[in-house]
Amino acid sequence: MSLSKSAESREAHNQRTTGKECSFATNPKILIVEDDLAIARTLLVSLKARGYLPTVVQSATRALTAANEWKPDAVLLDLGLPDLSGLEVLRSLRRWSEVPVLIVSARHDEAGKINALNEGADDYITKPFSMGELLARLRANLRRAASNASEEESQISSKDGYLVVDLARRQVFVNAEFIHLTPREWDILAYLVQHRGRLVTKVELLHKIWGTQYEKETNYLRVYISQLRHKIEPESTRHTYLHTEVGVGYRMVLDGA
Ligand code: CA
Repeated sequence: MSLSKSAESREAHNQRTTGKECSFATNPKILIVEDDLAIARTLLVSLKARGYLPTVVQSATRALTAANEWKPDAVLLDLGLPDLSGLEVLRSLRRWSEVPVLIVSARHDEAGKINALNEGADDYITKPFSMGELLARLRANLRRAASNASEEESQISSKDGYLVVDLARRQVFVNAEFIHLTPREWDILAYLVQHRGRLVTKVELLHKIWGTQYEKETNYLRVYISQLRHKIEPESTRHTYLHTEVGVGYRMVLDGA
């Protein structure tokens, strides 16, 4: 793919002024599945400039071949593709791969994005997106995948040290004080902490914590999430750690991003 000189030099300038974005041991391979060439180019140039190894494919069929043969570290997946839908790509991929998949899709496709999250996508970015946000999400998902692959750390704390969750001992400390949680509150918190940085849908939480027959019981979640916030947030109305993604679910943010 040929890239315009001005876009390249702009990116090179951004890289000089913002520093290297990518700090992984090897340069992560990013598969961009996108049939809109302008968007594909923007992603390709930006990711390259930040030390990633991106490649673009423009159809679902090519995406599956590339995922299988090239073994990317993460996939940026458009939902509207010329042959099959991005959702079909995701379903096929999830039969054999745990690679982080970030859906990059149009604002009007709310239902498609939620379906994708329930089918195992790790996150979604709405078009038109800010490159800064996309890069932050990509980094968070790559980091999580890497820490899942190595040994899972037992004690997780927020960047400010205010909230400490010890997954192995099932203990929570807020401002250095031990906090009592009910078993259900613990299950929800532990799941969100294990998937920190990622958008977890309400349906996913209800499935994992209560069981598949409870997927409509979003009022359960509201009650428990509000209780949890009272216990773990510095100010329960400010949502410093436990963010709400309106209409979709929750995201645990511990690194202050
Ligand atoms: Ca498209």
